[in-house]
Amino acid sequence: MSDNQVSDIVMNNDGKGMPGAEALPVEEERLQRKQKLAAAFRLFGRFGFDEGVAGHITVRDPEKLDHFWVNPMGVSFKQMRVSDLLLVDHEGNVVEGEGLLNGAAFTIHSRVHAARPDVVAAAHAHSVYGKSWSSLGRLLDPITQDSCAFYEDHALLGEFTGVVLDLDEGKRIGDALGDKKAIILQNHGLLTVGQSVEAAAWWYITMERSCQAQLMAEAAGTPKLISPEHAKQTHGTVGSELAGWFSFKPLYDVISKEQPDLFD
Ligand SMILES: [Zn+2]
Repeated sequence: MSDNQVSDIVMNNDGKGMPGAEALPVEEERLQRKQKLAAAFRLFGRFGFDEGVAGHITVRDPEKLDHFWVNPMGVSFKQMRVSDLLLVDHEGNVVEGEGLLNGAAFTIHSRVHAARPDVVAAAHAHSVYGKSWSSLGRLLDPITQDSCAFYEDHALLGEFTGVVLDLDEGKRIGDALGDKKAIILQNHGLLTVGQSVEAAAWWYITMERSCQAQLMAEAAGTPKLISPEHAKQTHGTVGSELAGWFSFKPLYDVISKEQPDLFD
């Protein structure tokens, strides 16, 4: 299915927030972003991506472009609500909401948002398969249709130098990410970005599963690689911004119906 076909289907239903759709009034856009963010946390919790207080997903404020919304440290992904989210400025001050700001959330995400003006949202967690894969210091190979979303579209930050608490290290991540949609932080985990919360969260979910698939395949044998030509072509289909946004929709539909308190 092409991006145009997906776009026609969505626009004939509810295309709110779709990449390329008409811009919403800023208040509505802000609320939509926060609702999608809270839902993304609930899904990360459901998938077991939480590990203690590690992990953060951020979304840029639609009005104050150097501010972003983030989860307060110490609140479970599984219980995140819209009203829990913190608004943080470019200096790391919490300017709206109550709660603890995770230092690494600020140093990593502020630099990624600064390095990539096109990025609306970024996701990072310490999920098991992503961090296991990250220890190998290798990029993912195009071994499945799904992993082609990352073909020539993810980067590797080599050498772990401790918890990311200074801005220079955050900048190193932003620089290494370049114009890609994801980065493997060696001995640490995954970070994904998108032009919407939906896309950033979906890339995280499918990248984590691509890590799982490659770990399993390599434990069993030697996976056959998809040819560069077909990997490139498949990247154009499953790896587009619109595909990322759309792939999140069924997950959002389920979690918002099952856990409506996320909207509180
Ligand atoms: Zn981390």
